[in-house]
Amino acid sequence: MDCLFCKIVAGEIPSAKVYEDEWVYAFKDISPIAPVHYLFIPKEHLSGASAVNEENAAIVGKIFTAIAKVAAQEGLASGYRVITNCGEDAGQTVPHLHFHLLAGTKMGWSSESGV
Ligand code: AMP
Ligand code: ZN
Repeated sequence: MDCLFCKIVAGEIPSAKVYEDEWVYAFKDISPIAPVHYLFIPKEHLSGASAVNEENAAIVGKIFTAIAKVAAQEGLASGYRVITNCGEDAGQTVPHLHFHLLAGTKMGWSSESGV
């Protein structure tokens, strides 16, 4: 499968790992837009949020559980933001489901969301 994030999960492309379990892999975004900017992805390939269905939806819970663990470990008690971009209009550039964890700064809302 010619997918950047599948290659990262397989270790074929290097990444700065921050978390891993049976289902989830998380690593530092290569071009961070906040002091903390991690990507949480399912190890299994899913193209994006639009590919979530009744059969595979449990992975989203696994990802959010991983996010909460990492946020607690990193002391992000003052807050964080989780974003997934789905499709062209939202600016999704890698077609493997991923959730951005952003933290470490006071965030605005509509300006950052680009709407
Ligand atoms: P999106 O634009 O929502 O699809 O997010 C894709 C994210 O992947 C962007 O924030 C990129 O900076 C990040 N990214 C692309 N290639 C890599 C890589 N090799 N390692 C880590 N992050 C990457
Ligand atoms: Zn993939």
